[in-house]
Amino acid sequence: MTGPDPAVTARHDQAAAADQHAREIIGSAAAAAGGIRHSGPPGPVERVIIRRLLDLGTAKQITVCQHLAEAGPQPEFWQAWDPFKMRCQDCAASAWQAAKHTTAAVTCDHCSTRTSIEQLAEGVIQMPPVPGHAPVILGFRLCADCQAANQQDSAR
Ligand SMILES: [Zn+2]
Ligand SMILES: [Zn+2]
Repeated sequence: MTGPDPAVTARHDQAAAADQHAREIIGSAAAAAGGIRHSGPPGPVERVIIRRLLDLGTAKQITVCQHLAEAGPQPEFWQAWDPFKMRCQDCAASAWQAAKHTTAAVTCDHCSTRTSIEQLAEGVIQMPPVPGHAPVILGFRLCADCQAANQQDSAR
């Protein structure tokens, strides 16, 4: 090898651009969510939700939308209330619009308690980046009890 493989470099550049894009999305999503997003490691409830994604991924039970399947690296969105799908940003946004008036919108993604949409706080996590892979963003909604439980341990 006399230098970096141009194809690999291009993939890294694309992934870096996708990562920057993801950070911007997360910034605005966190602002809209009223500050549940904290920097630092995920709390205990968030770790359960991350584990759910990893287990489904390992079991190959997640299907991706056609845009993720066909296009180059771009941020991938996983929504805890619809765990068998991985979507691009546009598909994730339309899926949420469609789900807004269903029970998914009023159900805690951790304990499955039904509450009101006002009582659920939206959380956003970006998975640790993997070189050459587009960032994966987790979206989930937590009831007040699960928000509190998530904050406790992470304040250690
Ligand atoms: Zn899509
Ligand atoms: Zn809950």
